[in-house]
Amino acid sequence: MTDEGISIDSTTPSIARVYDYLLGGKDNYAVDREIGDVFKRDLPGSVGIAFANRAALTRAVKEIVTTTDVRQFIDLGSGLPTADNVHQVAQRHAPESRVVYVDNDPQVLVYGRALLEQNDRTRVVAADVRNPEDVYQHPDTRELIDFDRPVAVMFSAILHHVNDDEDPARIVRYWRDRVPSGSCFFVSHFRSGNNSETREAEKVLQQTFGRGRWRSDEEIEHLLDGLEILDPGIVPAPLWRPEAVDSQWADAGGRELTVWEHLITAGLARKP
Ligand code: SAM
Repeated sequence: MTDEGISIDSTTPSIARVYDYLLGGKDNYAVDREIGDVFKRDLPGSVGIAFANRAALTRAVKEIVTTTDVRQFIDLGSGLPTADNVHQVAQRHAPESRVVYVDNDPQVLVYGRALLEQNDRTRVVAADVRNPEDVYQHPDTRELIDFDRPVAVMFSAILHHVNDDEDPARIVRYWRDRVPSGSCFFVSHFRSGNNSETREAEKVLQQTFGRGRWRSDEEIEHLLDGLEILDPGIVPAPLWRPEAVDSQWADAGGRELTVWEHLITAGLARKP
């Protein structure tokens, strides 16, 4: 139990903390490292996948604030604070940017709120992304986000944690129908390699968390139905608008991708 009364369970692994471990963070427990090590052993590209994902997210945020008028973000399944969080990247280029972070992991809430205490243009909302109405109606969301103006809805490494029977396309549709034309949708997602490694990884995720899907390109595109997918499409994350390295997260920089880097895709779409 923390001093805010939020309960953190250090005996059961958490998606946010395992991901933090793969990114080299310190906000994780032995149970998380144990699962992280299974990934590192059976899917040696896991660390590269996590970094490639983070780098694509960073580039997408920068792209949005430098090439559009969008200055408000809803970051669904935002994760533990790490280097270059969405508000830091956005506010570096456009200080007026506002960000609502959403996660259901208690540790994300505690650490996120501590990080953001000084920043009145960011909020951390405790909610389940599978109940988008809870996020939309939340007082912090209503306070920070003006739904009459375009919004960037970020689905970074979150929709693959929503199972098929929970209908992830429904979640995207929900947001699509609530934001005005010109709004942006970023998605990054585990991409099925149709090989034993990704099938095994899916099994580990399902056994550990009861969730985790490695979807095909067609399935991932279907999640963005009704939106205009911008160039270069939904592609392996390191190939999504690569640029000279400007953060600690490396991108492809013209080199050939590893087989693992094909297993995480990224794309940016726009509501027509
Ligand atoms: N978006 C960050 C990124 O791309 O670097 C973090 C991604 S991390 C792999 C997935 C995050 O989604 C975790 O922090 C986890 O707690 C959160 N998450 C998973 N299922 C969720 C749900 N149903 N509702 C809210 N958050 C969820």
